[in-house]
Amino acid sequence: MARKRRTPPTTAPGETAEPVEPVEPAELPVAAARRLRDATDSRLAQPRRFRATQLKGLERLLGENEDALCDALAADLGKPAAESRLTELDRIKAEIDHAQLHLGDWVAERHVRVPVSLQPATARIQARPLGMVLVIAPWNYPVLLLLGPLVGALAAGNTVVLKPSELAPATSALLARLVPAYLDRRAVAVVEGAAETTTELLGQQWDHIFYTGGERVGRIVAHAAAERLTPVTLELGGKSPAVVCDGNFAAIARRIAHGKFMNAGQTCVAPDYVLAVGDHAANELEKHLPKAIAAFYGKDPSSSRDYGQIVNAAHFSRIAAYQQQGRVVSGGSNDPATRYVEPTVLADVDPAATVMTDEIFGPVLPIVRVDRFDDAVRFVNSRPSPLAAYLFSERPRLHTAFEDQVRAGGIGHNVCNMHLAVPDLPFGGVGASGMGNYHGKAGFDTFSQQRPVLSKTARIDTLRAIYPPFGWAKRRIMRSMG
Ligand code: NAD
Repeated sequence: MARKRRTPPTTAPGETAEPVEPVEPAELPVAAARRLRDATDSRLAQPRRFRATQLKGLERLLGENEDALCDALAADLGKPAAESRLTELDRIKAEIDHAQLHLGDWVAERHVRVPVSLQPATARIQARPLGMVLVIAPWNYPVLLLLGPLVGALAAGNTVVLKPSELAPATSALLARLVPAYLDRRAVAVVEGAAETTTELLGQQWDHIFYTGGERVGRIVAHAAAERLTPVTLELGGKSPAVVCDGNFAAIARRIAHGKFMNAGQTCVAPDYVLAVGDHAANELEKHLPKAIAAFYGKDPSSSRDYGQIVNAAHFSRIAAYQQQGRVVSGGSNDPATRYVEPTVLADVDPAATVMTDEIFGPVLPIVRVDRFDDAVRFVNSRPSPLAAYLFSERPRLHTAFEDQVRAGGIGHNVCNMHLAVPDLPFGGVGASGMGNYHGKAGFDTFSQQRPVLSKTARIDTLRAIYPPFGWAKRRIMRSMG
């Protein structure tokens, strides 16, 4: 089935869709790191007012360039503008609003109780900036996953180098132009480039590295961070399951289809596959998923304005191969010229097939039937820990069992992908799906050191009781003080 409406993309990875005049020559990795180290050493980004100004600048960047950002996302990923606003721009704005509202609380020192043996004294915990941070982003949500971590990093008072993905070239070029125009260029830099550039960046000394992307590069980043004992956050992916037991199957199908097929399935928390518990659930899903897809994207999704495309030819070939690995319940077509892959639902899939072992990261949804809820839990836990796990059931007992037994980065009951839209919920993986988390206060904490400060006067030496020699009287006093 040919793609009727969209024109084929004219760019290859590494090229920009439309040449955007840079304001000044592209920044080189080492120069950017040196420049920011100076600003870090002079504590430029620390003052509250500076942080607030940068957050405001980021807010303005998004507000004044909405159309340009949506155009760049359309050029890179064929994203519908409405989806770009909902899933990228609005998400960052919500993070900025949240940070602006709570920054005062987050930066406030916390006083804690001092043990009797150390009194009189005060003990405080300070949230201190880590210093200079490197953010490495992937291509699938290239604005959100570059600027989202930036919110927490700036709120926490850090300087930041941003490395956008070369596989979203139009977005990368646009952000390289916009960021210096809206944010203080002494504190925030964008370095464009691919693996070679990232390798050079990883060779610099950072105070934190925040990486979002696949597991293979995640290992490279973790390795580089270990060389210099740099703390690292890894936001990785994996195969997030949707376990379907009972409920309103028409609504369940819509929620799964929505989570799966947005951004043409290229979403880290998308339900990768469905585990249908029992024949009834499997049959109902086979009936309702095609209806949900048709309701969202029409009878021919290739002509839908609301459906995206695959990022490049290599990913297209990989995903197109998955379309063959089961009984096609709906969809099944593709068009290499426009990198269109029809939303595809498969059944009777071999659990050893690559569609069930690789992260699909595309619009193919296998349904695997299991007999019981416990089988579904066993299936999930026998594989690497996913970034998210979704349960569809109206039975609270199952919700509790799912939470108790399933190891996953996040859990959604009767929803897909939505937990990351709650700024107060930390977002991140566990095990193979990553380490560390962010969003809201968790983002602020990720980019902060929790520094303890104990403060006493030495005018009167109240610590004499604990100095040696430890005679009988001192030992008694020390025991009584605990
Ligand atoms: P990608 O290919 O864009 O790579 C990510 C970053 O790594 C890019 O900036 C790229 O330049 C850099 N890179 C690539 N090769 C490198 C190398 N050899 N050395 C150093 N740096 C290198 O993105 P991807 O990996 O294809 O992203 C998709 C994956 O990311 C999926 O697994 C998805 O689940 C995961 N993901 C996770 C999240 C999350 O929030 N946890 C979000 C989005 C995507």
